[in-house]
Amino acid sequence: MRILYSPLEAVQLAKQNPDKQVVFFAVGFETTAPANALSVVHADQMQLDNYSILASHVLVPPAMEAILADDENKIDAFLAAGHVCTIMGMEEYYPVAEKYQCPIVITGFEPVDLLQGILMAVIQLENGEYKVENQYTRYVQREGNKLAQSTISEVFKISDRVWRGIGNIPQSGYEVNDRFKKFNARLKFNIDIPLAEENKDCISGDIMKGLKKPKQCPNFGSRCKPEHPLGAPMVSSEGACAAYYHYANTERLEKV
Ligand code: SF4
Repeated sequence: MRILYSPLEAVQLAKQNPDKQVVFFAVGFETTAPANALSVVHADQMQLDNYSILASHVLVPPAMEAILADDENKIDAFLAAGHVCTIMGMEEYYPVAEKYQCPIVITGFEPVDLLQGILMAVIQLENGEYKVENQYTRYVQREGNKLAQSTISEVFKISDRVWRGIGNIPQSGYEVNDRFKKFNARLKFNIDIPLAEENKDCISGDIMKGLKKPKQCPNFGSRCKPEHPLGAPMVSSEGACAAYYHYANTERLEKV
């Protein structure tokens, strides 16, 4: 197993090692999908028979809808991920904001971006509005990156995907389409990955729905830490539980 910076490096590896099968684990949100799709296009152009990808892409808008459609959810507003919208644009978010009457502010990642995104969301809530707004104007355009989108649709089709803490969300992932099926590792090697059993003590579903804060999980900071996470929100540094673990003044937040 090798860690690479880019999926195109995996294509080069396949070219340099024709006697070996190279499988790239194509994981991520819409942001990483264009480069992963491009690797398949390149491998096809190079007529490589020893390159494939194991696609495990997930899509943001269906997950937002799944959370908002849950009657129990306590989400007041969303800060939509700026990197995803840099690729996909803003169009998909308008029907979500309208249907669930929920403000959505597309936000960047610097501290001032987050502060401004929160402020824009709070102003909408105070005014009783539910619009899609773009805080991350230096990168996000309403139509997104058309070239990246066309590369995605050239290689991928939309498929169901199981999300940890939520379960199966219909039409919430990308899978390699039939045209490029010879690059689909799942088909090529007849891979049937069993569903990973979730830790019964992890309350990540409640956290994603806004029902509980990470510190309210009995395992937070004890059995569950970034070095040995019990659930997805503690794995990535972007996860809610990991963010609380690293940065939150939880004593003060408890009182909020
Ligand atoms: S602290 Fe760990 S166990 Fe608790 S919800 Fe977060 S990821 Fe799950």
